[in-house]
Amino acid sequence: MSFEVKERDLAGRIGELHTRRGTIETPYLMPVVNPVKNTIPPRELKENFGFGMIITNSYLILKHFGMERPEVHKLTGFDGPVMTDSGAYQILVYGGVDTSPEEIISFQEAIGSDIAVILDIPTGGRAAREEAEFTVKETIKRAKQSIGLRSDPAILWAGPVQGGRYLDLVAESARSMGKLDFHTHALGSPTQIMEEYDYAALVDMIVTAKVNLPPERPLHLFGAGHPMMLSLATALGCDLFDSAAYALFAKDGRYMTTTRTIRVEDLTELPCSCPVCTSHGLEELLALRKAERENQLARHNLYVTMAEIRTIKQAIREGALWELIEMRCRSHPKLFEGFKRLAHYSDYLEINDPVMGKSVRGLFIFDELSGARPEVLRYKRRISERYKRPDGKDILVLLPMPSDKPFSRSSSYWEARRAMKVERVHFCFYGQPFEIVPVELAETFPLSQFEGCGGVTTMSQDFLKGFIKRNHYTKAIIVGGAIKNELKGLVRVDSIEDAAEEVRQDAHSI
Ligand SMILES: [Zn+2]
Repeated sequence: MSFEVKERDLAGRIGELHTRRGTIETPYLMPVVNPVKNTIPPRELKENFGFGMIITNSYLILKHFGMERPEVHKLTGFDGPVMTDSGAYQILVYGGVDTSPEEIISFQEAIGSDIAVILDIPTGGRAAREEAEFTVKETIKRAKQSIGLRSDPAILWAGPVQGGRYLDLVAESARSMGKLDFHTHALGSPTQIMEEYDYAALVDMIVTAKVNLPPERPLHLFGAGHPMMLSLATALGCDLFDSAAYALFAKDGRYMTTTRTIRVEDLTELPCSCPVCTSHGLEELLALRKAERENQLARHNLYVTMAEIRTIKQAIREGALWELIEMRCRSHPKLFEGFKRLAHYSDYLEINDPVMGKSVRGLFIFDELSGARPEVLRYKRRISERYKRPDGKDILVLLPMPSDKPFSRSSSYWEARRAMKVERVHFCFYGQPFEIVPVELAETFPLSQFEGCGGVTTMSQDFLKGFIKRNHYTKAIIVGGAIKNELKGLVRVDSIEDAAEEVRQDAHSI
């Protein structure tokens, strides 16, 4: 088995990818290394930055060194696992490559690649339907042929998933590739979509690929490397990333942060404490010769990227990935659009999110979007599908969720208990994000382990209606004004005393 999942949060996971040259903990980002020249020597990526695996391009090696077939670890000076790409990206950029699917497979084997990719045809983000169909069909055909061409069983093979923005094609591609003998999959060509900041489309693509691929195989998102979006992609189930962004941005004088990119001449401070930023003042950095400044910027970009990967892993282990993406996605409205799209897939996240063992800390609830997180959804589903009120308690009294927790020890609850005869009264609390919390469940996770920002006591009318109907109350009383329209059978009162009066009247009538 080449991949083992160790921890989960949302659809994100910490895993171990076993290659013949060692194990890599995921989520992981492979820095893209140019086989010919690099501003930072690959060896240093491991020694100074902690990047244990890199990716380089076998097609470029073929072009530069031809049939010399240099061993890729010797060529790059990197002794950890090396993934090689196949030249498919060059097809996307230049329209074609000067090799064949067969040649690039045997070439990757010859140069000693640890993870190799077949020569697929990338769909890209702007392909017409017909073109996209062709790329999917041709990639599947080449994937099938590749199986018989491989001769080194120690290499892990990546099967690219194509289809671009056409989700039915992504689904078809993922299903077909998932049936073939691959160790990892890679979602092809999201680069153009990310350049357009179309993160909502990217979320659609990733989820579509994930639900159609075998879950035990890691998913690699090709060409995604900005720290601001890595947590979102991880939460959706991406395990591997590769990026040349650290170097390309540096070449262009751009300084990465976890939320954005800043042109170096627009910096007035160095808002970072990596070795580059602490050993240089801003003026010193700006005064460096161009090549040296590019080198220092690339280093800073790598430090930021690696720190974000570690931040994501910490969040997964704590069960706080949702909070992390809520923060990161507020970096840019288009990224936030991606986050909002995530809420469409809350069922997908809920199925993948672990039920147990994620109570290291409580949930942070900011707004209605926080209500789409799996813990909330799971609770609401249980209340809708499995919950039954205690026997004999046929009068429902709904109190606004108190600010002190657990609700069952709050002062308003005890005030209500003292004010009315409680034998037949079933107290429940209403408000966001859980809609309704029966008092007897108030101390279970996560109902007492969350932090809200107060004042949100609205609720879904449908949820309330369903709750009252399923539990066959003879009377339902709500304290407070959260219900916009009158609900048949629900008595709205302003205070606990009024509620007590309603309970008394009912007790007389029966
Ligand atoms: Zn820095």
